[in-house]
Amino acid sequence: MKSKRILSLILAGVMGATLFAGCSKKGDDKVEVKNKGAAVEKLEGNLASKNPIQQTIHLHSYNRLIYKDEWPVFKKAAEITNVSLKGAAPQSATNSEQVFNIMMASGDLPDIVVTERENFFKYGPEGAFVPLNELIDKYAPNYKKYLESNPNIKKFTTSPDGKIYSINFVPDGEAAEGYFIRQDWLDKLNLKVPTTVNEYYEVLKAFREKDPNGNGKKDEIPFIDRAKGKKTTQLCSLWGAYDAWYAKDGKVIYGPMDEAYKTAMINISKWYKEGLIDPEAFTRGANARNILFENNTGGSTHDWFATTALFNDSLKTKVPGFSVQPIAPPADVNGKVWEITSRPMMNKTGWGISKSNKNPEATMRYFDFWWSEEGRRLMNFGIEGQTYDMVNGKPIFKDSILKTTKTVTQELEAIGAQIQVGFHQDFSYEEQWMNPVAKQGAKMYIDKKYIVPEFPLLSYTTEEQKVINEKGTSIDTLIKEQTQKWILGAESVETTWDKYISTLKNMGVNDLIKVQQTAYDNFNKAK
Ligand code: CA
Repeated sequence: MKSKRILSLILAGVMGATLFAGCSKKGDDKVEVKNKGAAVEKLEGNLASKNPIQQTIHLHSYNRLIYKDEWPVFKKAAEITNVSLKGAAPQSATNSEQVFNIMMASGDLPDIVVTERENFFKYGPEGAFVPLNELIDKYAPNYKKYLESNPNIKKFTTSPDGKIYSINFVPDGEAAEGYFIRQDWLDKLNLKVPTTVNEYYEVLKAFREKDPNGNGKKDEIPFIDRAKGKKTTQLCSLWGAYDAWYAKDGKVIYGPMDEAYKTAMINISKWYKEGLIDPEAFTRGANARNILFENNTGGSTHDWFATTALFNDSLKTKVPGFSVQPIAPPADVNGKVWEITSRPMMNKTGWGISKSNKNPEATMRYFDFWWSEEGRRLMNFGIEGQTYDMVNGKPIFKDSILKTTKTVTQELEAIGAQIQVGFHQDFSYEEQWMNPVAKQGAKMYIDKKYIVPEFPLLSYTTEEQKVINEKGTSIDTLIKEQTQKWILGAESVETTWDKYISTLKNMGVNDLIKVQQTAYDNFNKAK
C-alpha cells in the first residue's frame, strides 16, 4: 500500500481531488506508449513529428503568465519540430489556480498541461496525466541524459507512486546572497578585507568607533539587515550554525536546536549590544539598505548580489567615493568558509502530457527539443539575429534587448523566451546584464564552492502534513520570538537555553524531526 503523498505547499487540495474524481470515471482511456518494445523511429534533426501537427496547451502561471499563440519563440520551435501549440487557457482570467481547477473539473484536458508539481503528484496517479518514464526513455535522449547526471531533479519530479508525470523548469545560477562591505571605508581606515569571523568583528568595530564617514559623529551602523532580523539571525553561520533544517550524514537536524546556535546567539547579542548591528534590525524592513547606504551610515550587509551591487551605480554622485564590494564569507569559528543561502536548484512548475493527448510520442520529442542545445538556446536567448547574435560561439544579447526601458526579463517574456516550462535555464543569460560587481561576487561564491547544498523540497503524506501544520507553525514562531529576545538582549541566552529546548520538546519538536527525517529518507530512496 502506498500512502498518497502531497506537497507541503498544498494543504487543501481536497477540493480539486473531488472535482476530478467525477471525470476520471468517464472511461479508462489512459494513453499507452505506441509500439511498445518496437524500435524507436529516428526523425531528422529536431523534428518531433514527420508531418506538421498542432497540440493544445494549458499554460496559466503565477496569475499572469498565459500562453500566447503568437509568441515568436514557440513559432520558431514549431518550424524546427513540426509541432505547433495552441493556447487553451482563457486570456482574461487572472487566478491561475482557479483556471486550473475549472479545467480539471471539466475533464476536458488539453494535450499539454503546465502546472505545479503537487498537481502532477495528485492527478497523475488518478489517470489525468500520462506517466512519462517510458516516453523519456524512448523519445527524450537529451532530457534522459540530463536526469542521469542530475539525480536530484529526477527524485524531485518522481511522484510517490514512483512515476514521473512532468518535466520541470530548472533554474540556473546557484548564487543568491553574499557578504558585502564598504571598500571605501576599509581604505579610509587602512583596514584589510576581513577573512575570519574575528577579523569581521574587528572591522565592524572599527566602522563603529572610527568615524569612517568622517562627519565627526558616531552614527555608523556597521551591519545592515533589511529582512526584519533574518539577516542578523543568519550571521549564526559564522559560528557554524544553521537557522533552519539541514542534513548531515543522512541525519536531519533542526538548526535552531544545535549547541552551535546557542553559541551564535551569545555572540550575535554581544555584537548587537556593542552597536555593530543596526539597532532597528528587526523593524527597519525592506528599505534598510537604501536608507543606510544613501545617508552614508551603513557599512556591511549580507544580501543579494545583483541588487546590492547596484548601489555602486545609483549612489555614485550622492555619496562620493561610495564603494560596496562583495567579499568571501568570513571563515566561521571552525575555520570553514561557507555561504548559508542558495538559489533553489529546482522549480515546482513543469509540463506534462494529459490523458487526452493522442500523440504523446510527438509531445515527448517536442519536450526533448527544449533540452537540445538549439532548443535550450532558443528558450534562454530568443531568436538569433533578432534578440541575440552568436559571438565567439556564445549567444550575446543585442542592445535592443539590453538597453530598453523594460527589464531584460520582460523583453524576453514578451517574445515567449524564459517561459517557465520544462527547460534548463542558462545563467549566462542573466550574467550579461548583471552589474560587473555583482557578477564578480556571484562568480566568486560559485567558483570557490562556498554555497552549501540546499535542503531539498520534500513531500509529505497527509498525516505528516498534519503534524507540520499543527506543530511546525507554533514551533517556528517560538524560535523566531526567542531568537529576537536573545539578540536584542531582552533575555540571557545562557540562563534560558535549557528552558527553550524543553519548551520545544513539549511542543512536539521531536515529532516534527521524525516527519522531516522520514520525508528526507524517502527523498533519498527515490531512484
Ligand atoms: Ca560618523
